[in-house]
Amino acid sequence: MATNEELAELLFPEVTETIEDLEKRFPPRNLPEGAQVTRFAPSPTGFLHTGSLFTSMISYIVAKQSGGVYCFRLEDTDTKRTIEGSGDLLIDQLAVFGINADEGYFPGGDKGAYGPYKQSERRMIYKTVIKELIRRGRAYPDFCTPEDLDAIRKAQEASKVLPGYYGVYARDRNLTVDERIEKIKAGTPWVIRFYSNGDHSRKTKFIDAIRGEIELQDNDTDVVILKSDGLPTYHFAHVCDDHFMRTTLITRGEEWIPSTPIHLDMFRALEWKAPKYAHIPSIMKLDHGNKRKLSKRKDAEAAVSYFLDLGYNPEALKVYLMSIANSNFEEWAIANKTFDLGKFKFSIKKMSLDGALFDLDKLNYFSKEIIARMPLEEEFLAVRAYAEAHEPEFLAKIDADPSYFKKILNIEKDRKNPRKDYAKYSDIYPLIRFFYDDEYAKIAANPLPFNENAPKSTIKAFLLDASKSMPFGVDEAAWFAAVKELGAKHGYASSNKDYKENPSAFVGSLSDAAEALRIAIVGSKESPNLHEIIEILGQERVSKRLEGVSASL
Ligand code: GLU
Repeated sequence: MATNEELAELLFPEVTETIEDLEKRFPPRNLPEGAQVTRFAPSPTGFLHTGSLFTSMISYIVAKQSGGVYCFRLEDTDTKRTIEGSGDLLIDQLAVFGINADEGYFPGGDKGAYGPYKQSERRMIYKTVIKELIRRGRAYPDFCTPEDLDAIRKAQEASKVLPGYYGVYARDRNLTVDERIEKIKAGTPWVIRFYSNGDHSRKTKFIDAIRGEIELQDNDTDVVILKSDGLPTYHFAHVCDDHFMRTTLITRGEEWIPSTPIHLDMFRALEWKAPKYAHIPSIMKLDHGNKRKLSKRKDAEAAVSYFLDLGYNPEALKVYLMSIANSNFEEWAIANKTFDLGKFKFSIKKMSLDGALFDLDKLNYFSKEIIARMPLEEEFLAVRAYAEAHEPEFLAKIDADPSYFKKILNIEKDRKNPRKDYAKYSDIYPLIRFFYDDEYAKIAANPLPFNENAPKSTIKAFLLDASKSMPFGVDEAAWFAAVKELGAKHGYASSNKDYKENPSAFVGSLSDAAEALRIAIVGSKESPNLHEIIEILGQERVSKRLEGVSASL
């Protein structure tokens, strides 16, 4: 009678190392007490999802704040779903958010002593572990064809039992070693399955770092661990990789909770200590009053590129995600008047569980605060880079006179409570295009929204007068005093109070006079501080605009 040893040798003659060799090659890390080794382990199946950014950010911050290590592992074992080049793209996109791995797969080559970090390059590691499991009788070749598996499923359906390859339904589980060897020698295709000792009527308990104790039915399925293409399944690769990379905390999407008993079953079979798990809540969205998961197919905001293309500052998106990760973040940010994530003490225990809800208004709030507080030069470079990538017309304007554009960006900025107009870089050009004469001409070619209450002739005369006598190069108080005087000359009240007391005595209030100027100069009723605007535009431009509008009335 042949032995499992012979079976293992027949299946994996190329494997010469043992688990002990691997234990030596990847020794426990020498890290300070409490330091966490985390990892982000995406499959290269497309662009960076908002949910993945959320998970990777948490993984990163836990490692950094504990003085540990953050790894990037590329899980490319599902070759049908792999999209060429998307692993490198994910790394580039994460870099935009400053999430750079200490160790891991990098386009230019691996970094770190626990690699390779790309699963398809770890075949020998998986096979080494599997060979050992075969020796121990804890894994076996399964020769079922898809038709065989289908027949098992149908029989299970008919007898109303749970589908799956377990217990008496695991057809090849109890073949003798001789039978196995015979089939292999006959060239029958095989996959390798894990031999579970689990009992479905019992429970597996584990502590989730976010959720606390989770109790689930024990695994009793003999899951496939090595596919016919020689690559492992996620379940097995995860167990091997996180063991040999010495991961201490697995941060992964909550969709993996139900399969955790499978993973713990394997850790037990291998007599390895399982790392801690933190299952990260999915990002949700309100859809017609119903809360649902952000969908890769239905929701544009499921892709991180959506925010970058609109010109959101990457830091703003991170700050926003932190606010949904830790509910105490917002309070902290307001109290500390900083959005510096490096200073916030993140706590995995304080993660909210009820499904983080995506809230664009809140993202906009953070984003406006962050852009407003960016130093001018930094904002200039970021906006220019955005325009370069997305808005050629805007870029041409910036480059034609960078210092003019900087003055525009600096309006009401250099102060304790700066103006917060822009949530994203794409908001900027539509709001400031009036600064450029050709754009202003397009705006002014449309009817301007003057207050109908004041006679046109008054506005006409007032604007013409302003074009000649409005002072430039004076401070705001002096300028405003002059506007008041000018307004009064044309029948506007000198104060809003005077106007309120006796509206029929005036053509309009002081605000109406200022509004008429604003409309003529910028083309709309709303704008930042008008005095700053006219100083940037300069006397020549302003006078020309006032004169032109006056003539058109
Ligand atoms: N490749 C898996 C995924 O993309 C990783 C899960 C994990 O982090 O373990 O869902």
